Amino acid sequence: MDHFEIAVVGAGLAGSLAALALADSGRSVALIAPVSGRPDGRTTALMDRSLDLVRQLGLWDAIEPLAAPLSTMRIVDGTNRLLRAPMVTFHAAEVGLDAFGYNIPNAPFLSLLEKVAETRPSLTRVVASLAQIEFGTKRAILTLDDGRAVTADLVVGADGRKSRVREGSGINVRNWSYPQSAVVLNFAHEVPHQNISTEFHTPDGPFTQVPLPGPRSSLVWVQKPDAAAAALALSPEELSLAVEQRMQSILGKVTVEGTAQSFPLSGMAAKAFGKDRAILIGEAAHAFPPIGAQGLNLSLRDIMAATSLLSDLPTIPDDFGARYDRKRRADVLTRTVSVDLLNRSLLSDFLPVQMLRAVGLQALASVPLLRNLMMHEGLNPGSALQTLRSTLSEKIGWQRA
Ligand SMILES: Cc1cc2nc3c(=O)[nH]c(=O)nc-3n(C[C@H](O)[C@H](O)[C@H](O)COP(=O)(O)OP(=O)(O)OC[C@H]3O[C@@H](n4cnc5c(N)ncnc54)[C@H](O)[C@@H]3O)c2cc1C
Repeated sequence: MDHFEIAVVGAGLAGSLAALALADSGRSVALIAPVSGRPDGRTTALMDRSLDLVRQLGLWDAIEPLAAPLSTMRIVDGTNRLLRAPMVTFHAAEVGLDAFGYNIPNAPFLSLLEKVAETRPSLTRVVASLAQIEFGTKRAILTLDDGRAVTADLVVGADGRKSRVREGSGINVRNWSYPQSAVVLNFAHEVPHQNISTEFHTPDGPFTQVPLPGPRSSLVWVQKPDAAAAALALSPEELSLAVEQRMQSILGKVTVEGTAQSFPLSGMAAKAFGKDRAILIGEAAHAFPPIGAQGLNLSLRDIMAATSLLSDLPTIPDDFGARYDRKRRADVLTRTVSVDLLNRSLLSDFLPVQMLRAVGLQALASVPLLRNLMMHEGLNPGSALQTLRSTLSEKIGWQRA
């Protein structure tokens, strides 16, 4: 039976990046997953801090030509409600950056990770599915669906929402659903996007355009499930016109490329993010609606937390799962709750909720300090208080007692 220090189960974006990062930290790693299924037509906006990890892994030169910078992000209230919020614009230059992050198409990103994984001597790709897992005090035994078995000191569950690793570790989850689906597509347009991403908040959910290289953008269009199904049934010309109209023609004529895909929206949070010799990352640990580009960015922070905890440990202790759980709890729960609240505030017809949303966005539009804090928090979660303290001490000589 082959033994590895770490077995990563699942080779989506989270698992593939985790396997590379752990192998580069000097551990022997097995990456266990079947060959990838249907091509993923989505794109992922990775923010500045996540890109640091991509750079550390030596991937940036190959990714940059595929990706478009996000220099400006706009939120437009497209609700047509009584209380409408003003447009809020965030410029990366306000926080001293050229771009908040980059938008990367998932399919070529994943192919690149597959190729790079072959070049790492301490990383072994095992093409099979995990069938069963048993945890002992010293190691875990993973039985695969082709009859093989491997052992590992630590198992990283990156096997998506229906994670076998999570189930085998006896970790429960909380699931909830939203009356929404996301239609995802890419499109060409007449007017250059100038690296601006625009998120229209509509009563059915956000409609978010994100730049791609050249005069092209990706779209995540959250709407009621029957409306999403109707959008997928449109001809390419009809769909292009529907997208253009929703965008109030700000990018001129739209031409939808390829086939649109639809994803039902739901939320999920594991009740623990690690236990004994298992940890959970990516959608095995947390899933929520695609608002504000949070999902994979949070997964990359899972990976950074795991590698940083491991860096101090010559051998992997049997309580590693609990240590990781403590380290990830606050960040994951804060993101899950804030995305949930933002999504529900859009769906709510309750006037006080609409009022709070409108007042919040009004404050962001008119108070530069608040906007600045929000941008710092988005780029580097947990940093808003630190930024507030240094800004206050700079501006009014405020010092901590
Ligand atoms: C419409 C949409 C738009 C999004 N946009 C963004 C964005 O802009 N920015 C952002 O940060 N996030 C975004 N996200 C979230 C992001 O896409 C997800 O967080 C990410 O794709 C999840 O990756 P994952 O690797 O955790 O899971 P998955 O991609 O589901 O991968 C799971 C892997 O596990 C494997 N697997 C499953 N079972 C087994 C088994 N038994 N044995 C072995 N392997 C197994 C599968 O084959 C697969 O390889 C978006 C999500 C949606 C739905």
